[in-house]
Amino acid sequence: IALQVNHFDGEHYNAGGKIPLGLKNKKLRILVTGGAGFVGSHLVDRLMERGDSVIVVDNFFTGRKDNLVHHFNKPRFELIRHDVVEPILLEVDQIYHLACPASPVHYNDHKTNVMGTLNMLGLAKRINARFLLTSTSEVYGDPLQHPQVETYWGNVNPIGVRSCYDEGKRTAETLTMDYHRGLNVEARIARIFNTYGPRMCIDDGRVVSNFVAQALRKEPLTVYGDGKQTRSFQYVSDLVEGLMRLMEGDHVGPFNLGNPGEFTMLELAKVVQETIDPNAKIEFRPNTADDPHKRKPDISKAKQLLGWEPKVSLREGLPLMVSDFRQRIFGDDKEAKG
Ligand code: NAD
Ligand code: UDP
Ligand code: UDP
Repeated sequence: IALQVNHFDGEHYNAGGKIPLGLKNKKLRILVTGGAGFVGSHLVDRLMERGDSVIVVDNFFTGRKDNLVHHFNKPRFELIRHDVVEPILLEVDQIYHLACPASPVHYNDHKTNVMGTLNMLGLAKRINARFLLTSTSEVYGDPLQHPQVETYWGNVNPIGVRSCYDEGKRTAETLTMDYHRGLNVEARIARIFNTYGPRMCIDDGRVVSNFVAQALRKEPLTVYGDGKQTRSFQYVSDLVEGLMRLMEGDHVGPFNLGNPGEFTMLELAKVVQETIDPNAKIEFRPNTADDPHKRKPDISKAKQLLGWEPKVSLREGLPLMVSDFRQRIFGDDKEAKG
């Protein structure tokens, strides 16, 4: 196995691993797995802005170099093409573990969630780094409790078509707690609810990216099932703020990070029509199996312990991704050019 070793100057090194209070004012060395992806690249932007040294590990399965190209000439930034299913040697203070095939069309990879998370936990243990897992609201499955509180254990079909993702993340949470309780790894767990924004994969099948791309291409918006199922949509900058607060805070979690504003898919289609094209048609398609009927986070815990809550509503956030999508779909930005 090819192992990559990185040496850093002693100034940054957090010997002993326990991150003392106030260290957030010190420059940190931070690993972001999956950092070339949608959420990861926005997180990297914030960490670079704060003055930290950032290493991104990504195999570009769904991520893109384009998402990070603006950091390529900076000495504090490093990008490594690597699959987290394989072990790796690095020296950092914190690990944000995001690497994961995260969308319906790429779901078929349980291995990344299990072996990738195990490797990153092994790494965290060896170097005494703090480890943050980006889990998902999918751990609640098709929830029988509404809204979902962190204490709810969920309702997941272990052999269903989407179980590789749900159960993969549930296993990743279990591994994280095993390493935390048994091996003293400083752990943080975020349960992320549906998130959208610029740099989302255009054709990965998620509902917001589908509707926005369809409206821009003058195609009908494809509503699955009767469109009455609900989701709660969070703008990416709110999520990144929550992830950083969680990492810097004193609480393991899990914490729900999501926007409690709940919409049916028909309501979402309406907001997309209002934002992009009032004449966009709606086309109904058969729904996929095991589709959760509703989902909405209870974020009381994050509010109380992290002092966090989302700031950007769907109607404010959606327009912020449109020019990015337009540019990537048509190769130019009509809005920017006027
Ligand atoms: P994304 O697909 O844009 O990013 C995932 C990144 O991980 C990509 O850059 C991909 O290339 C990389 N990756 C995948 N497998 C890898 C592997 N084996 N080794 C190295 N890199 C690998 O997805 P995202 O929306 O940015 O999701 C980031 C994280 O947040 C994921 O863990 C996802 O499960 C979680 N999450 C996201 C949402 C959401 O709505 N966006 C909701 C819940 C949870
Ligand atoms: N690992 C890694 N980098 C490290 C340390 C460990 O990739 O710096 C991997 C290691 O190869 C193993 C996994 O993390 O596959 C779990 O490591 P751990 O030491 O916890 O378990 P063990 O190797 O004892 O089974
Ligand atoms: N959905 C839809 N049209 C699409 C894509 C998805 O109506 O083009 C629905 C899907 O059936 C689900 C909801 O939108 O009920 C959210 O799907 P997504 O895959 O974005 O997120 P998740 O199901 O993982 O929450």
